[in-house]
Amino acid sequence: STFNALGLIDPLQQVLAELGYRSPTAVQTQAIPAILNGADLVAEAQTGTGKTAAFALPILQELAAEPAVDEIRPIRALVLVPTRELALQVTESLNTYGRYLSLRTIALYGGSRIESQIGQLRRGADILVATPGRLLDLLSQGFFDLRRLEMLVLDEADRMLDLGFIADIRQVRKKMPRRCQTLLFSATLSAAIEQLVPEFLQQPTWVRV
Ligand code: AMP
Repeated sequence: STFNALGLIDPLQQVLAELGYRSPTAVQTQAIPAILNGADLVAEAQTGTGKTAAFALPILQELAAEPAVDEIRPIRALVLVPTRELALQVTESLNTYGRYLSLRTIALYGGSRIESQIGQLRRGADILVATPGRLLDLLSQGFFDLRRLEMLVLDEADRMLDLGFIADIRQVRKKMPRRCQTLLFSATLSAAIEQLVPEFLQQPTWVRV
């Protein structure tokens, strides 16, 4: 299989060639076409399987297809992650894969000065990568809204549950449009995760690698 066969646009394929990615991983082969088709998706995939690119590439492609025209860009995609380290890693991946697209991504996480994150939000962004607590804090203070959100990713959902983020995630969900393409990635699909699926996703495609 090739990235070309998955339907990725040239500006993304160019980056993948520059990075030396020769062919998609199993989770990428299964997830990318489904996401580009607009499906909700549940993927059981551990770190190291290429899961970040599996959601980052189709998010970038979908947002680039219809660039925001507003002077103040609405937040159109949100990636919720359990830790600051993962927030930084996913943000770096989105910036790398999106280097030929004009989309802006910012990372919001706790344990760091809130002022600089507020400053970045004022300049606008298309994509937020955030830990749930800090996101909810900034959201409830009115520094941005999620009324135009199109895509939501719950990354490492099992770790977010373990860390007790479910109540925050539910609060955030209430501030989004009812229909929002939702992608859930988890290292393991426990009973607790399976219970979340009907709450957050509609007729999802299931991927196990
Ligand atoms: P992840 O599972 O998202 O943590 O990714 C693990 C590592 O695999 C990262 O360093 C990626 O840059 C790399 N990677 C992701 N997809 C591919 C691919 N198709 N070919 C080669 N390397 C990849």
